[in-house]
Amino acid sequence: MKRFLLVEDEKIMAKNIAFFLEREGYLVEIAYDGEEALVRFAENKYDLILLDWTLPKKDGLEVCKQIRKESTIPIIMITAKGEIYDKVIGLELGADDYIVKPFDQRELLARVHVLLRRQESNLEGRMISPESTIHFEDIILDREKLLIIYMNETIALTSNEYKLMEILIKKPYNVYSREYLYEAVWGGMLMYNERTVDVTISRLRKKITDLTGKKYFYSIRGMGYSLGERL
Ligand code: CA
Repeated sequence: MKRFLLVEDEKIMAKNIAFFLEREGYLVEIAYDGEEALVRFAENKYDLILLDWTLPKKDGLEVCKQIRKESTIPIIMITAKGEIYDKVIGLELGADDYIVKPFDQRELLARVHVLLRRQESNLEGRMISPESTIHFEDIILDREKLLIIYMNETIALTSNEYKLMEILIKKPYNVYSREYLYEAVWGGMLMYNERTVDVTISRLRKKITDLTGKKYFYSIRGMGYSLGERL
């Protein structure tokens, strides 16, 4: 049974979401503030986190940032209407998706399904793969642990960052359009938004630059992105 952590300080809202998801066959544990969320996360193993944006003690962004330091677990941010910059900031901090309150429970369920499926296909993809690492110059992508390794240091990637990185590193110097990357990583063009690709690339680029102090990613105006500079 899949086990979720729901972080939501509005008690009635939390109970409603939990009730609905449990009826769909998931096990849901609730944390009512940011600190409780981190304690529960440290002590238990979850398959997915639903994370409210405004929370007592520690807000959702801070919680997201903390969790992302050590885990690639799927995270859906729950935001309130009107918090228009949430989406980009949330994605920058490593959330996989977001949903705006008030939302339809079916919509939430659809998003949960997408993320769980994506997580599973990542795992399957890695199992049939003959090599567990791919390297480019002096960085190594660990496909089992979703890590970038450089010298003796590592940095964890989210599932979307990992997917992007895997595409780019398999064919370095190849320039990929945003549309191509979006379809390959997020699946389908229905919700296509080039900003989503840009934000995820820039997050990935920052992580790897912070780790190595070097530049590996290149954007080619009007064309897209490559790993390694195309001469
Ligand atoms: Ca709240």
